[in-house]
Amino acid sequence: MQESEGAGATVAGGCLCGRVRFEIGLPTLFCAHCHCSMCRKSHGAGFVTWVGVPYARFRITAGEEALRRYDSSEHGWRRFCGECGSSMLCESSTHAAYIAIALASLDGAVDRAPSQHIFVDDRAGFVQIDDGLPRLGGKSGLEPRS
Ligand SMILES: [Zn+2]
Ligand SMILES: [Zn+2]
Repeated sequence: MQESEGAGATVAGGCLCGRVRFEIGLPTLFCAHCHCSMCRKSHGAGFVTWVGVPYARFRITAGEEALRRYDSSEHGWRRFCGECGSSMLCESSTHAAYIAIALASLDGAVDRAPSQHIFVDDRAGFVQIDDGLPRLGGKSGLEPRS
């Protein structure tokens, strides 16, 4: 059964060691690849694919005490497992209505595929973008580039 595709379904996720567990409720709000330097450094990855859900559809189900917070900018912060270091969540006062969850930390599929690349001007030199998805960048990271 692929129940994760429908509205009202939930998708569980968590960190590498399994201490921190959470779930999101569908539908998601967006799914995008972020190439900003903070995402890359925080995750040790070429880019990070995020899905957003309203806080009302996000719930930590285990290990909340293991979650650590790092303030990565004046308005944003990231949360990761203090045991295994998995970086999973990105929150910001600029988007107080929703939380961003690293797609790779989820155990199952969500209701949409990644739809765009953001902060492309900050991307790592070894990352080639050739999937045809829209690219956004510039100062805000969200201005149309192609
Ligand atoms: Zn962990
Ligand atoms: Zn980013």
